[in-house]
Amino acid sequence: MRTVSQMENTTKPRVLVIGGGFAGVFAVRRLKRVDCHVTLVDRSTTNLFQPLLYQCATGLLSEGQISQPLRTMFKNYPHVEVLQGKAIDIDVETREVTFSRSEGSTFVRGYDYLIVAAGMRQSYFGNDHFAEVAPGMKTLDDALDVRRRIFEAFENAESRSSVEDRHPWLTFAVVGAGPTGVELAGQIRELATKTIAEEFHGIDPSEARVHLFDGVSAPLLAFGPKLSAKAAKNLSDLGVDLHMNAKVTDLDQDGLEVQHEDGTIERFETKTILWTAGVRAVSFVSTLASALGVTQDRAGRIEVDEHLNIPGHPEIWVLGDIMSYQGLPGVAEVALQSGFYAGRQVRGLIEGSTKPRKAFRYHDVGSAAYISRYRGVVKFKSIEFSGFLAWLVWGAIHLTFLSTARHRFSTMASWLFSLARESRAERASLRSTRKR
Ligand SMILES: Cc1cc2nc3c(=O)[nH]c(=O)nc-3n(C[C@H](O)[C@H](O)[C@H](O)COP(=O)(O)OP(=O)(O)OC[C@H]3O[C@@H](n4cnc5c(N)ncnc54)[C@H](O)[C@@H]3O)c2cc1C
Repeated sequence: MRTVSQMENTTKPRVLVIGGGFAGVFAVRRLKRVDCHVTLVDRSTTNLFQPLLYQCATGLLSEGQISQPLRTMFKNYPHVEVLQGKAIDIDVETREVTFSRSEGSTFVRGYDYLIVAAGMRQSYFGNDHFAEVAPGMKTLDDALDVRRRIFEAFENAESRSSVEDRHPWLTFAVVGAGPTGVELAGQIRELATKTIAEEFHGIDPSEARVHLFDGVSAPLLAFGPKLSAKAAKNLSDLGVDLHMNAKVTDLDQDGLEVQHEDGTIERFETKTILWTAGVRAVSFVSTLASALGVTQDRAGRIEVDEHLNIPGHPEIWVLGDIMSYQGLPGVAEVALQSGFYAGRQVRGLIEGSTKPRKAFRYHDVGSAAYISRYRGVVKFKSIEFSGFLAWLVWGAIHLTFLSTARHRFSTMASWLFSLARESRAERASLRSTRKR
């Protein structure tokens, strides 16, 4: 039986991994049979499958279906210590990182090899106060907050008798027309027109308006003009109002203001604003950058060399969303391939491999996005397609990447049930009764 002090006083090489997302988890998995001591620290207790967060937010999937306790994931790795803690400081001279516990006290872990894979947070482009009104979509807390706001908006409309009073409650604004914004906007319309359409007597939920805003010219721009146009058409067919080339300049509890391309300002009255527009590296990445005297790009990412190390620090890897390397996008596949690569690098160093270190090479496996029921888009190199087949491919990819068979089967069951019965089982929400 291991004790914490044995872990702390190990004489084996110490690998410290910060962040139990795709990159951190794949790095640790690669160290399975390596004679070292691994400490994996995450501010949360679970590994989260972010690509399906919006389905949790719209009542289709539960929190448990898109997350897995890190402790469970590594229970058969006797040399892996899993800890909950938020990295807050680093001393690169003594090679120690300070973490805060959820109750506020701190602890320290040393390292011989450090892997930082702490991911991104939502960015409000310098308007951090927007977060109070417009939650983002990065964590389980965010998804549950969004879920509560969506379902409570319909409830708040139901008990109002005048059309004018109901209008802002039945108007939803989604900011950001990347995959998450598109998926969320489509899901709210589906929810309103199918799942809850028959459940209310005072209001007609299908009258709910969903506005999707972005400063760029089209939704899903990263998928190229053809698929982007397809997505725009599918969203319009679904009843989503697209406002492209429209920058959100201000928002409050009662609505938001957007500036159109020609400079005119328009206000939309809405009680529900959801923000998916930008990302920025979590704050520890800035702490790390200043401790090492390296710069960050506009999104807070740190540039890494061909081994995914910080230049001049072959003992520190920066992975996944927070690494800046050859313009690679912040997607799951980049994160997991970088984690796998770094784990293998650490393994080679610990085992004294004499083989020359190979540079990291990303293998593009394409990308897919869900637009609405039976409609998706898929892009793989020069191959592009949309519609039902793309929707099936999207589903298969997501099921494959869920962490266990239990997650895969239960997610598939929820999807099939929802398709067959027009229902969503996960509609409970937190907080609404807490303060009363
Ligand atoms: C809503 C949404 C939908 C997405 N959809 C897709 C998709 O369809 N396809 C796709 O390829 N990609 C998608 N992505 C992107 C993909 O999820 C990310 O690229 C991937 O999760 C990045 O992995 P990572 O390990 O770098 O970071 P993350 O998965 O974000 O993991 C970072 C971990 O670090 C922890 N952490 C943060 N700060 C600290 C700290 N100070 N101390 C300790 N731990 C810390 C966090 O709790 C988290 O567990 C989506 C992302 C989101 C948010």
